[in-house]
Amino acid sequence: MIANKKRKVNIPIFVSHQGCPNDCIFCNQKKITGVCEKEREDVIRKKIESFLFHTAPDCNIEISFFGGSFTGIPLEEQNMYLRVANEFFYDSRVTGIRLSTRPDYISGEILENLKKYNVTTIELGVQSMENKVLKMNKRGLEAEAVYTAVKLIREYGFSLGLQMMTGMYGSSPQTDIETAEKIIGMKPDCVRIYPTVVIEETELFDLYKNGEYKPQNIEEAVSLCAVLLKMFEENNIPVIRLGLMAGEDINENKVFGPYHSSFRELTESHIIYTEIAEFLSKNPHNGKVLEVFSNKKFVSKIVGNKRSNIEKIMKEFCLSDIKITENNQIEKYNFKII
Ligand code: SF4
Repeated sequence: MIANKKRKVNIPIFVSHQGCPNDCIFCNQKKITGVCEKEREDVIRKKIESFLFHTAPDCNIEISFFGGSFTGIPLEEQNMYLRVANEFFYDSRVTGIRLSTRPDYISGEILENLKKYNVTTIELGVQSMENKVLKMNKRGLEAEAVYTAVKLIREYGFSLGLQMMTGMYGSSPQTDIETAEKIIGMKPDCVRIYPTVVIEETELFDLYKNGEYKPQNIEEAVSLCAVLLKMFEENNIPVIRLGLMAGEDINENKVFGPYHSSFRELTESHIIYTEIAEFLSKNPHNGKVLEVFSNKKFVSKIVGNKRSNIEKIMKEFCLSDIKITENNQIEKYNFKII
C-alpha cells in the first residue's frame, strides 16, 4: 500500500523589496505583492495564527518569507521575522521556515544566523544563468554568484530551491533551456519557473511600450515551459511553482505578457497533447476512435482548458471520437486506437 503523503502548505509572508538596493528592470515588488509597508511583528503573528486556524492539522506547514531579498534586509529585521516564525516552529505548529533571496546575499555569517533560527529551505532567485541576460535586466550580479551561493548553502545543510524566469529581456528559448540545464547540474531540491510578465511602472514596461521588448505570448511561454518542466521532471527535480499566482504574486489585471491563472495546467496539457500527437503520428488512425486510459489525476489535463486538447486533437488528426477511461492502476496514461 502506498503511504499517504502529507499535503504541503505554505504560509506566505511577503517581505516587500525591503533591503533591496537593486532595480531589476522587471521588478516592482510593491506592485507584485500589493504590500507597501513593512509588516509589524504582531500583524505577522496574527496572519500566521489565522492561516493555521483555517488549515487542516495533518499538513506539512511551512512559513515562507517571499517577495524580496530576505537576507538583504537589516539583521534585526530578519531576526524579528525569524523570531516570530520560531514561536510556531518550536511548538511544532509548523514544520519548516523557508525564504527567498539573491545569490549575492549569501555568506557564511548569514547562513550561521539562519541556522540559529531553524530556517530549513533557502530559495535563490537565479532568473538566468546567462551573463548577458543578467546584465540587460540589471540584476547586478553574474551567474558565478549562483554557484558560490549554492555551494555554501549545501555546506550548511539547507534544503535548496532555485527560481528561474523565462522570456526575459535579451533571452531566447535556447538561453532559457541552457539556464535550466545549469540549474539541473546544481541538483536543487525544488525549482520555480516564472515566465516574465510586464508590470506597470517598471523599466521593462517602458521597453515594452517603446517596442524594444516583446514579451512571449501565452502559447510561446507554454511550449517553452513544457520543455523545461519535462527536463526537471526527468531529473527528479520537483517544479513547485510554474507561473505567477494571482493575488499572491500579482494583480492579474495589471500585467502584460504570458500571464494565465492556470499556467501550469496549460503547460501540463500541452505536454500531454504533444505525447498524443506523437502517438498518433506513429499509428494509423484516420476516422477511428482514440481511447485514452488514464489515472484520474490526469484526466482534466488530457481534456485541456475548455476542452482545447480534445478539440484540437480530433480536428488535427481526423478522429471520430476520443474516449477517456479512468484507470487508477495506471500511473499516468496510455493510448489505444479502436
Ligand atoms: S533583487 Fe529581487 S527584489 Fe530586488 S529588484 Fe531585483 S527582483 Fe526585485
